[in-house]
Amino acid sequence: MATFDYQFFVIGGGSGGVRAARIAAGFGARVAIAEEYRYGGTCVIRGCVPKKLLVQASHFSEDFADAEGFGWTLPSAQFSWEKLIAGKNTEISRLSEVYESNLGRSGVTVLHGTARLLDAHTVEASGKRFSAEFILIATGGRPFLPSIPGIEHAITSNEVFELAQLPKRVLIVGGGYIAVEFSGIFNGLGSEVTLAYRGEQILRGFDDDVRAHLHDEMSKKDIHFMLRRDVTNIDRRTDGALDVMFNGSVGNQDDKGHTFDAVLYATGRIPNVGGLGLENIGIHLEPDGGIAVDEFGCTNIPNIYAAGDVTNRIALTPVAIREGAAIASTLFGPTRTPVDLAIVPSAVFSQPPIGTVGLSESEALERHQEIDIYRADFRPLRHTLSGRNERTLVKLVVDTASQRVLGAHMVGADAPEIIQGLAIALRMGATKADFDATVAVHPTAAEEFVTLREKSTRCNPQKKG
Ligand code: NDP
Repeated sequence: MATFDYQFFVIGGGSGGVRAARIAAGFGARVAIAEEYRYGGTCVIRGCVPKKLLVQASHFSEDFADAEGFGWTLPSAQFSWEKLIAGKNTEISRLSEVYESNLGRSGVTVLHGTARLLDAHTVEASGKRFSAEFILIATGGRPFLPSIPGIEHAITSNEVFELAQLPKRVLIVGGGYIAVEFSGIFNGLGSEVTLAYRGEQILRGFDDDVRAHLHDEMSKKDIHFMLRRDVTNIDRRTDGALDVMFNGSVGNQDDKGHTFDAVLYATGRIPNVGGLGLENIGIHLEPDGGIAVDEFGCTNIPNIYAAGDVTNRIALTPVAIREGAAIASTLFGPTRTPVDLAIVPSAVFSQPPIGTVGLSESEALERHQEIDIYRADFRPLRHTLSGRNERTLVKLVVDTASQRVLGAHMVGADAPEIIQGLAIALRMGATKADFDATVAVHPTAAEEFVTLREKSTRCNPQKKG
């Protein structure tokens, strides 16, 4: 029997790779992991964690204003971007070190450097060659930038966390997670924000009511939307400001001013597959560039696995973590473990935030002959005194025939916290009657999910029951 330096070699120290390495080591495997940048990956270093800190920072401006209605008088607040970024950097460094030291404590050999595959059992990293029985590729993704003239003047979610100063006028291009989240961050911190999106409405793929509701709420905060618009050119002026040209702008009212201090592109992410030597061993890629894997995370090469954003399926940290853990368990644990991605809850940390799980109304209608829709759109208790004109949306999508709840959606304060519990109910196959039979927690926004009564029914005539 061949002997290998390691039973499991993980390439990439982000959420998926780190979890796989630690679980495999916990099963007693000899494990090494290589990371070329900082341990923690996108989520910890320049994604979920710093983003959430910035969201929290930016919400204070509304909190201060809202406090007045509750009897508080505050001196005018001052904000320091430098202080926020320094605090964020300290926390990110701490977390990255925790990731790395946890690996060491789990018995994993931790390497710093770029790794690449020489053959199906050999990895080159840190100038050395290592043989491995199994290999996991968990190299994540990176921002995608369309090639337009002047794109080099734009920044992405990689650079936005390190800006030297808060830009006064920001253009955000894209209509997905990052675009809406950073629109809220910059708006809350006091920048003038314009969001340019090529489609009809932001957040394609989300429930249409959720999309419209968030669009309305963001507009109320004076975020300026340019829908059905594409950037065609970016020019840097001598004073450093950026002049941006859009298609379709001739004669349009938006013509009046297209000068910004920063242009943030949030136009999706692409898998990090370059430089890994995948071509040396013929690993198959999907047409979108992600590494093709089966339900166990295995590539077309039987001892090589892939997890997380590099597979370009659902680019969410908890999904990568699940995949990494399942692969480690399949290879070194007691059972082969597929990853069930049928019901994946997610949150958008927009302002107000979104929590969503299961099917949107239009997805449900494609799959079911008849569905019941329950919605409530209300002013949260807090804003009766704050005076803020913000509304919360909650919505349930129910299969008429089985009464099973297919989707739950919310736009409003704490939606991400609320949706996690609802995801358990949906996974367990809860029906509308189960929701109705649950006693409410009062006074909360969450209680609306168990008190929804008004129903409207939608039919798909093309779909035969
Ligand atoms: P998204 O896929 O969410 O959105 C990309 C946006 O860019 C879409 O609106 C898309 O338009 C638009 N777009 C794509 N290509 C072009 C182009 N060539 N020109 C103009 N617009 C274009 O990507 P993000 O970059 O926002 O985020 C990347 C991923 O990271 C997310 O999909 C998500 O998986 C993850 N993420 C998760 C977060 C969370 O869980 N809260 C937070 C941040 C990121 P169209 O809709 O027309 O295709």
